[in-house]
Amino acid sequence: MSEDLLGELSLEQKVRLLTGEDFWSLYPEPRIGLRKILVSDGPAGVRGTNWDERDRSANIPSPTALAASWDVSLVERLGRLLAAEARRKNVDVLLAPTVNLHRSPLGGRHFEAYSEDPLLSAEIGAAYVRGVQSGGVAATVKHFVANDSETERMTYDVTVDDRALREVYLAPFERIVAEGVWAVMAAYNAVAGATMTESPLLREILQEEWGFDGVVMSDWFATRSTVAAGNAGLDLAMPGPIGPWGDALVAAVRSGEVDEARIDDKVRRLLRLAARVGALEGVEPVVPLVAPAPAAEIAALGREAAACGMVLVKNSGVLPLSAGALRKVAVLGPNALHARTMGGGSASVSPTYTVTPLAGLTAALGEGVEVVAAEGCFPTTSLAPVPLEQVTDPADGTPGLRVRFVDETGATLAEEHRESAQLTYLGSFAGADPAKVRAVEIATRYTASADGEHLLGAAGVGQFRLTVDGHDVIDQVIDPPGGDLVEAMMKPDQAYAPVRLAAGGSVDVVLRHDLPAGNTFAAAMLRLVAQPPRRAEDDELAHAVALAAEADAVVLAVGTNEEVESEGYDRAGLALPGRQDELVRRVLAANPNTVVVVNSGAPVVLPWLAEAPAVLLSWFAGMETGNALADVLLGVAEPGGRLPTTWPASESDVPVYSTQPVEGGLTYAESIHVGHRGWLRSGAEPAFWFGHGLGYTTWSYDSAAVEGDAVEVTVANTGSREGREVVQVYASRPESAVDRPARWLVGFAVVSAAAGAAATVRIPLPARAFEHWSGDGWEREPGPFTLHVGRSVADTPLTLEV
Ligand code: BGC
Repeated sequence: MSEDLLGELSLEQKVRLLTGEDFWSLYPEPRIGLRKILVSDGPAGVRGTNWDERDRSANIPSPTALAASWDVSLVERLGRLLAAEARRKNVDVLLAPTVNLHRSPLGGRHFEAYSEDPLLSAEIGAAYVRGVQSGGVAATVKHFVANDSETERMTYDVTVDDRALREVYLAPFERIVAEGVWAVMAAYNAVAGATMTESPLLREILQEEWGFDGVVMSDWFATRSTVAAGNAGLDLAMPGPIGPWGDALVAAVRSGEVDEARIDDKVRRLLRLAARVGALEGVEPVVPLVAPAPAAEIAALGREAAACGMVLVKNSGVLPLSAGALRKVAVLGPNALHARTMGGGSASVSPTYTVTPLAGLTAALGEGVEVVAAEGCFPTTSLAPVPLEQVTDPADGTPGLRVRFVDETGATLAEEHRESAQLTYLGSFAGADPAKVRAVEIATRYTASADGEHLLGAAGVGQFRLTVDGHDVIDQVIDPPGGDLVEAMMKPDQAYAPVRLAAGGSVDVVLRHDLPAGNTFAAAMLRLVAQPPRRAEDDELAHAVALAAEADAVVLAVGTNEEVESEGYDRAGLALPGRQDELVRRVLAANPNTVVVVNSGAPVVLPWLAEAPAVLLSWFAGMETGNALADVLLGVAEPGGRLPTTWPASESDVPVYSTQPVEGGLTYAESIHVGHRGWLRSGAEPAFWFGHGLGYTTWSYDSAAVEGDAVEVTVANTGSREGREVVQVYASRPESAVDRPARWLVGFAVVSAAAGAAATVRIPLPARAFEHWSGDGWEREPGPFTLHVGRSVADTPLTLEV
């Protein structure tokens, strides 16, 4: 079929298909019945073509939370839910999953990748892909390969030995290609001197050795050449419409620098993808397309998944809380009032709604329990976008803002009503011709929520002018925070000015942002930000401590925020931002019946751990965060999660820490000893080991036996309530001719049992888990391996040989 269609296209028509039509679409080709294909991020929800409140999305837990569930069937169900979301938004290709590794906890996209372990990442990623593609939507496994940190992310060149490349970094991709994924994204970075969109790894390993027959697309703006990328295994340069291919690639084919057979191979792959997702006329999609999911189903699965990923790392008995015994609960901490449900960057979506910990707990505790709340401290340095409750569109009097796109004469080319003060345009200016748009202007009436000094301002990059009741209060250029587009989007610098207002009083606010000429991508990002009057931080801390002192129990939610965890930049350290550690210590001192909830996508150090009776890691748990948290804290649900990554006690112990390239290069000197393997080798004791996590019951590990290519493990629930356990199998081989990790994960399974009951679980042992890369192939060293069965890499009560 694709041969016939290919024959109908001229070289120009073929090459046109190989660059995006815009930011999120591929070119249609009506003469062969090819409709437009839409692609969209990403791992924790399907964004759609608009990156803000115009296109809201189901926000599921972020990848670290999914991996923390260790539950492939749950992740597969979530994948299918995302396919249903994609169909609702006419999206054909989902730009997920991200299976780069947690090489260093500083990695900005840590939250967006599954684990430090290649097997866990591979199995969770494969389940996700199975789920997405079962709904007729393509998954795109990314970012191929060794794209494990963000500093100098467009250019760093990774030096990694062959064994580590094969056994650690390529391993999840290989597993997911074997699962049948339909698309792969080539990364920004280079490996062994070749930028990934030109890398020989694309053809030699991905396509020829593994037999990948789908589309390789570039990460956004990662295609850097006409000839080298044209000759490589890259099929699709994203985004478009401009890029290094197009006419230049046609000319390169004509001059013989790129063989036309290469172009045909790329187009064939693209048409295969189109056929798979049902974008080719007359060709049925390979599986029936899933229907959009009802809201109640999305909420229920989101809540279940969030609880299932939460890791209870410490519990001296205060959890679960018993609602019946409580009169007054203090819900404290910046993340209790502002839930961080996802990390920043391309993995972010505009959620349909967000249940904060405060809202979730208040609803679950019911009317008989008094809930008091405070932020306790202010760890975010930037001002927030003005909330919808405080703005009125002057054109129609409804809540919101009026946005106009104006040309160089000041005439309005297009306008729209918006309900968010955080605007991101990528691809379209409400229909106005991007070549003519020279400024975006926001007009609104701001109503003060309290008496006093309000800060009003702008965030973005470029020239901004803010007028309040007709007077200029800001007229300046805001510089980019760094060189990265996504960094500028996620933590733009800002300018603001004080405005005195009485509660209920209002002012007319106009924010104008000038755009450069020739804005082909129709790109603009701007925020109207504000901060109402608030307590001094010392007073806020004292207020929270006072609330803690008079409560029966305290839930204190601390964590990171999008200034800290995002695509575009790595973290500078592992401490909680701002004065949160001080807040935790003071609250613990005021009320020992305190549960600390850590809301982050990646490890943070917990210097007060010894003083805390209970610590729950909630990750970025999606829009149902607060409900799921209440379920876990009140014992309605098990805290199902186990750590997918080792949690350090101190920064100085982390085996691979720095993500700073040296002269443009990152050397993976630790080779295969990544994550817990590195911790085991160094002998340092982390705060919590890979695989660790407590439930609300206890387990005994009774027996394990190898049966064929699996190990059967019998465990018994020795506690007083039903529970869920993640049984983990590690291997070791001390007397080995090759360098090996002290132990490495070879299999795992989730098991549930009633109080007092035993359960036997069969855990397949994949052949690959016992092989090493010998330089020119996979080899299994003859002789036995030792298996260690247990509940974390450092707690394995059963040992046997295989
Ligand atoms: C990210 C990709 C993402 C793409 C499109 C890039 O900045 O690295 O993961 O899919 O943008 O948003």
